[in-house]
Amino acid sequence: MTQTLTRPEQQSEMTAAGRAIVIGGGLAGMAAAVALESAGVSVTLVEMRKSLGGRASSFVDPQSGEELDNCQHLLLGCCTNLRDFYKRMGVMDRIRWERTVHFRDARGQHDLWRMGGLPAPLHLGAGMVGFGVLSVKQRWALVQAMMAMIRLGRKGREELADVEFGTWLNEYGQDGGLIDRFYDPVLRGALNEEPRKASAKYAIQVFQEAMLVNAAGHVMGLPVCPLGELYRNAPCGDVRCGVRVAGLRFAGTGVSGVELADGQVLVGDVYVLAVNHHMVSKWLPAELARGDERFGGLEKLKSVPILGAHLWFDRPVMAQSHAVLLEGPLQWVFRKDRAGRVLHGVISAAREWADRSREECLAAFEAQIHRLLPAAREAKLERGLVVVEKRATFSPVPGVDRWRPMQTPPPGGIGNLFLAGDYTRTDWPATMEGAVRSGYLAAEGVAEKLGENHGSGARFLVDGLEPQWPWRLLTGRR
Ligand SMILES: Cc1cc2nc3c(=O)[nH]c(=O)nc-3n(C[C@H](O)[C@H](O)[C@H](O)COP(=O)(O)OP(=O)(O)OC[C@H]3O[C@@H](n4cnc5c(N)ncnc54)[C@H](O)[C@@H]3O)c2cc1C
Repeated sequence: MTQTLTRPEQQSEMTAAGRAIVIGGGLAGMAAAVALESAGVSVTLVEMRKSLGGRASSFVDPQSGEELDNCQHLLLGCCTNLRDFYKRMGVMDRIRWERTVHFRDARGQHDLWRMGGLPAPLHLGAGMVGFGVLSVKQRWALVQAMMAMIRLGRKGREELADVEFGTWLNEYGQDGGLIDRFYDPVLRGALNEEPRKASAKYAIQVFQEAMLVNAAGHVMGLPVCPLGELYRNAPCGDVRCGVRVAGLRFAGTGVSGVELADGQVLVGDVYVLAVNHHMVSKWLPAELARGDERFGGLEKLKSVPILGAHLWFDRPVMAQSHAVLLEGPLQWVFRKDRAGRVLHGVISAAREWADRSREECLAAFEAQIHRLLPAAREAKLERGLVVVEKRATFSPVPGVDRWRPMQTPPPGGIGNLFLAGDYTRTDWPATMEGAVRSGYLAAEGVAEKLGENHGSGARFLVDGLEPQWPWRLLTGRR
């Protein structure tokens, strides 16, 4: 039975089937918890911060008292598991959906990518025709690349897991301008990596799932509230925030308890470790880690930073809800208030910006906004807040899947320890969708382990979007 004990010496080893302890209240941990509880498992979720959400969360701005996101997060229609999670949490009405992507070039010219109402990939036609950011020659090259991605099918992209996307782009004659003005804005945010260096598998997945398989895939979802509000409904009955786990206890080849920083010990039957991979390695005794193949490659996963900037101007500067900026440093900006005075800007793969001073960042961002948004030419930046997440996500470089662990223990591994987190093997890059998938996969493993009364055989993972007929026709239904 899961217990909270006041002192280690009072620890009870008593357990009863059907108790899971989830460590980490990010999206992966919450997804595991909500799924397991729906299958009748008793779940305790432990999170060291005062609120849930992990890397997709908000904080209270000490100056204004306002709740701000660590960074703007967006999702797409193809994030089927994240949408399922929001439904389970009862917050789907807090997501606003947009079909048009706004672009701003170096001279501040406004352009749109708006896809038509046809099934995928025919709907791309409308977007391409009116997309003045690219020359006609570049649009034709893009069509050919898209056709090649369709011919690959979902299975074919797997064979490109060890290939750099830059190599693939060269093979298909995609020129530098096309890469800078189309592939880069789309992929840098989605993969948090320089597109040319990323695995072609993950780059092509973005286009297949968001644009080519189903016309609903590209629709962009933006929370209409601070991220923290999405987690106001607890994912399970027993959520303990502000409780830091200090380590794990082991007995034989299993986990026997969770040590909290205040000396208490929680005991369950199964444990879902939903913290980031840096922490996972610290908590495992070397001998046990050696016997469990999941832990062999963790140190090879490299982290990439993301910078988010909250910008308050003295007057309205942007009417559209967002803009992709074709000249940096900020790559995307989002309007955060009705009037358009408050913006949030994002730099993905922000290695060059992570260590710069706040003043240097804000001066560069203000100058960029003046250049690229005509309404902002005379505007003054009244206040700016820069948030750098140095370990935002792992880099999806070629071969990365070899180092990503499965959620479920292998034979001979730590039998009651399950892993969840965007870094685990989800077949998605490090995204909110990837994190939720990992939580659902861990929950499926836990339900299987706990047996029939607790959802054995339960399936939580939701399929990707159903391929539409043109895709099926062109790929032979792959
Ligand atoms: C700046 C930024 C922008 C992003 N933008 C997007 C986006 O637009 N779209 C998108 O899909 N994805 C985006 N992502 C990626 C997305 O946020 C992550 O992939 C996802 O949130 C990871 O969730 P997780 O549960 O795997 O990990 P985490 O969110 O890191 O959760 C781990 C949790 O474990 C807790 N924990 C750690 N140690 C302990 C301990 N000792 N005791 C108890 N608890 C502990 C942590 O506090 C944390 O809450 C972005 C990420 C960042 C950082």
